[in-house]
Amino acid sequence: CLGLEDFYIRRLYLRIQVLHEKLILLFTDCFGRPIASAPDAWFDVVERYSNDNNKTLKRTTNISRCFNLGSYNYLGFAASDEYCTPRVIKSLKRFSPSTCSARVDGGTTTLHTELEERVANFVRKPSAIVFGMGYATNAAILPVLIGKGGLIISDSLNHNSIVNGARGSGATIRVFQYNTPLHLEKVLREQIAEGQPRTHRPWKKIIVIVEGIYSMEGELCKLPEIVAICKKYKAYIYLDEAHSIGAVGKSGRGVCELLGVDTADVDVMMGTFTKSFGSCGGYIAGSKELIQYLKYSCPAHLYATSMSPPAAQQIISAIKVILGEDGTSRGAEKLAQIRENSNFFRSELQKMGFEVLGDNDSPIMPIMLYNPAKIPAFSRECLVQKVAVVMVAFPACPLLLARTRICISASHTKEDLVKALEVISQVGDLVGVKYFPAEPEKQ
Ligand code: PMP
Repeated sequence: CLGLEDFYIRRLYLRIQVLHEKLILLFTDCFGRPIASAPDAWFDVVERYSNDNNKTLKRTTNISRCFNLGSYNYLGFAASDEYCTPRVIKSLKRFSPSTCSARVDGGTTTLHTELEERVANFVRKPSAIVFGMGYATNAAILPVLIGKGGLIISDSLNHNSIVNGARGSGATIRVFQYNTPLHLEKVLREQIAEGQPRTHRPWKKIIVIVEGIYSMEGELCKLPEIVAICKKYKAYIYLDEAHSIGAVGKSGRGVCELLGVDTADVDVMMGTFTKSFGSCGGYIAGSKELIQYLKYSCPAHLYATSMSPPAAQQIISAIKVILGEDGTSRGAEKLAQIRENSNFFRSELQKMGFEVLGDNDSPIMPIMLYNPAKIPAFSRECLVQKVAVVMVAFPACPLLLARTRICISASHTKEDLVKALEVISQVGDLVGVKYFPAEPEKQ
């Protein structure tokens, strides 16, 4: 709803949201079981098993060990890793959990500077700056990059952190249809003439914001087309690679590498460390001038306590493994594994008759349920069979486009996935969410 400028529409939207929250308390699932009193339908508080790369998790309510198809643990670095974990423990002893200081006031350790160099090198940009939280990276950076008199053109399904950052910037916001370059061009054409120099335009600055892989859709950004349009209209492009960095591309360098886009054509590259790197925080990479400017002017850099040093160490170590700098081929194997796992799981789900969103190579696999009453039923039945999946409901997606979202990890084995597929297939039959005829088995 980024572009909803009209006050009344916004209020109506809020009211629908409140009404929906009230309604959900009364809802029963599609088997008539109440949702509100159904702690068995969700996995809320969990404990990790530290020795299996977060492949399973232990629910603390109704204690049981579940196969984890919900975490964004794309490369399997979460929880424990033979290379990363000992180094993280060492850094904890050397630097402590927190610097208790902002970056400019004694909160910059050698790990922070090393991390920024490594990130810039990894995403193939001249320079980078890191923050302690991925969400805050978008929310805090956008208001520094653009303000009143500027124009943000944002994909309609961009993440909430982008929406809030854009709103906080004070810039005018226009939204283009989800991942539709043609519509982006239409919106741009409404604002400026093709080829008009930046100095002769009604906007001080125009930034187009997209994501590498869309987290609720599992689709890759149509980046080559979008980059070409931004060049044609001289608009800056801001790319959020939270779900693609480390997860796709031959050497894990994200959608630019996968889709053959030159990173020089992407002005601002943003990403988070919470998915493929098994850590926390976010980064912005760009030109030396841009990063220098952010270091001097971004309040989240100047006034917030810097990233926890062990978290920085985890990312440094994970990047080393991905690039083979640990002296093994584990990184390349992880990247091959996640691709193989993702493509296998997606095609098997489709053969079973599920409606699965997203592209090949993407580790995010939303299965459409549509009816919100099927959400708790699906989740509960999976949990009964010890498979944990994440359910996506309004307002994270439209009310009647409910879905379950599966995230594949390199730490899953083929055997694990085959077992999980059996469970999901049975649950799909029970809840009635196989919307296509199943493919006949090959003899
Ligand atoms: N951007 C996108 C596209 C996201 O999906 C997320 C969260 N999953 C974030 C930013 C925020 O990142 P974090 O969870 O690391 O704070």
